[in-house]
Amino acid sequence: MSHTVSPIGHVRSCFKEKFAIPRQPQLAPAATGMLELLPPFDTGDAVEGLEQVSHVWLIFLFHQALEDKPRLKVRPPRLGGNQSMGVFATRATHRPNGLGQSVVKLEKVEPGRLWLSGIDLLDGTPVIDIKPYVPYADIVADARNAIADTPPAPIAVHWSDEALRQAHEHGLRLRQPVRELIEQCLAQDPRPAYQKPPPERRYGVRLWDLDVHWHYPADGEIRVLDVQRAAN
Ligand code: SAM
Repeated sequence: MSHTVSPIGHVRSCFKEKFAIPRQPQLAPAATGMLELLPPFDTGDAVEGLEQVSHVWLIFLFHQALEDKPRLKVRPPRLGGNQSMGVFATRATHRPNGLGQSVVKLEKVEPGRLWLSGIDLLDGTPVIDIKPYVPYADIVADARNAIADTPPAPIAVHWSDEALRQAHEHGLRLRQPVRELIEQCLAQDPRPAYQKPPPERRYGVRLWDLDVHWHYPADGEIRVLDVQRAAN
């Protein structure tokens, strides 16, 4: 059986590239975005009542990880990237049908637009469906997952004075919690687990219209170097 699905909207996200996006929703509450609905879902009718709901499930397409040949085994970053596991035991992006699912906070509902926070979605992500989070059914008190039993331990994020000032200024300009966003994302330690970079190696990522640079002055420690408006 084959069945065609088509997007009901696209996410406009603070995340402009895959690197440094948290590996699950809720890990960075300051990660915000907006789901822009496509016709015929953009008139307000399809979201009527949703203002009574605090969180929604988004079913979406990993549009930048689509592959023709399904993988049976994947190497989750959570396990250091060197241990393979059955694709269905993981939340890996490379999977049959390329579907992802995230519970995100619904900040505001407008006709044709849902304002979201705590997202783990790339800018432009096509959304296939939206469903309200139903606590009595979706919270499973005795659930367990021995592969991912706790959130990743955060690492310490320090700032240069200049980077802190820049983050503050850009936060005011963008009306976004830029400092918190950077801290929450970098505390997840975005580098691949096998990389042990020397202190002089600079890392960078694009968040909103900003280029953020940091380095690892010591193992398990990040220092944000600068937060500058991107050239393009
Ligand atoms: N919560 C979802 C799930 O369980 O299906 C996503 C989990 S997946 C491990 C999270 C990662 O997906 C992020 O760190 C980001 O790098 C990647 N990602 C997010 N949006 C994507 C997209 N549209 N295409 C490809 N990769 C994406």
